[in-house]
Amino acid sequence: TLILGLETSCDETSAAVVADGRTVLSNIISSQIDLHQRYGGVVPEIASRKHIENVMPVVHQALAEAGATLADIDAIGVTYGPGLVGALLVGVATAKALSFAAGKRLVGVNHLEGHVFANFLAAADLAPPLIALIVSGGHTSLVKLADYNTFRLLGQTRDDAAGEAFDKVARVLRLPYPGGPEIEKLAAQGNPEAIAFPRALSGSGCEFSFSGLKSAVLNHLNAARQRGDTVNEADVAASFQAAVVDVLSAKTVQAAREAGIDKVALAGGVAANGRLRAELAARCADHKISLHYPPPVYCTDNAAMIACRAHYQHLAGCWAGLDLNAVPSLKLGEKRC
Ligand code: ATP
Ligand code: MG
Ligand code: FE
Repeated sequence: TLILGLETSCDETSAAVVADGRTVLSNIISSQIDLHQRYGGVVPEIASRKHIENVMPVVHQALAEAGATLADIDAIGVTYGPGLVGALLVGVATAKALSFAAGKRLVGVNHLEGHVFANFLAAADLAPPLIALIVSGGHTSLVKLADYNTFRLLGQTRDDAAGEAFDKVARVLRLPYPGGPEIEKLAAQGNPEAIAFPRALSGSGCEFSFSGLKSAVLNHLNAARQRGDTVNEADVAASFQAAVVDVLSAKTVQAAREAGIDKVALAGGVAANGRLRAELAARCADHKISLHYPPPVYCTDNAAMIACRAHYQHLAGCWAGLDLNAVPSLKLGEKRC
């Protein structure tokens, strides 16, 4: 089975061809990071316009690199939420047009479910049930994947997402957008125990909160600057990262143990973080839980993960009609197959 995947939920225009849900034949990603960097974040209007320019060239390139034509494709999977409405609409309209023109099945994919399925691209034998920690720019959630089409949200952040916290702290440290990789680089030269930043909601199951941590970092920097102290920014970055990773790791292991599931998968852009991978690997090993994470290119936004998710929906007969619309605040597991 060959699936063409499309992803335009934020600032990456991406198309991919995936065979049998696991083998990536092509995965073209046109990132707009340079365009948005001068504004310190994604500007929705600019993103939509750029998606319109990029989407067909990216689709053609994905098909060409896979050595396929539209006629060879079995179904077209597209992200229809959550994300920026104008950005999502470009992918949805394109997928509907291709589906109608070529007479192919259309599959509407939840972007967050796609992030989780990125794990299946890298691991041929990995299968549900598993506990997934989704840590992206807009979301921080613990999820139980009982089988390929049954998601259950165990808990999520009450305020900022983990990636958002990285981006905001990077901003106050005057590091460029996106801040996650920059913080990780700076943190490598710092002491993670230098500053005791708060670990919020430690006792509260699967719920997270990161806005207090962000404020604590800001207060620490302001206080030091007011006293005229020189701030060791590497120590701040390392201590902030340690606080985030500590909470994420502890809650994820706890969730897996409570669910009686011995497989954990990381998903979303923050899953590329080396300290999170290492710390969670150590804690999982203590409890005989296996840890899985996609290679970095499948952690951030890409269409291969969308094609993978679409493959399993296609197998289950979970198709969309030409009335598919963008749903900017789509919830996880909302789509019933
Ligand atoms: P969502 O998936 O919730 O809609 P998004 O698609 O914008 O949001 P992703 O592309 O999954 O988010 O991830 C981007 C986020 O990942 C950014 O916040 C970025 O700072 C963060 N990130 C990327 N690499 C790293 C890293 N090495 N360490 C920490 N954070 C990282
Ligand atoms: Mg992005
Ligand atoms: Fe994403």
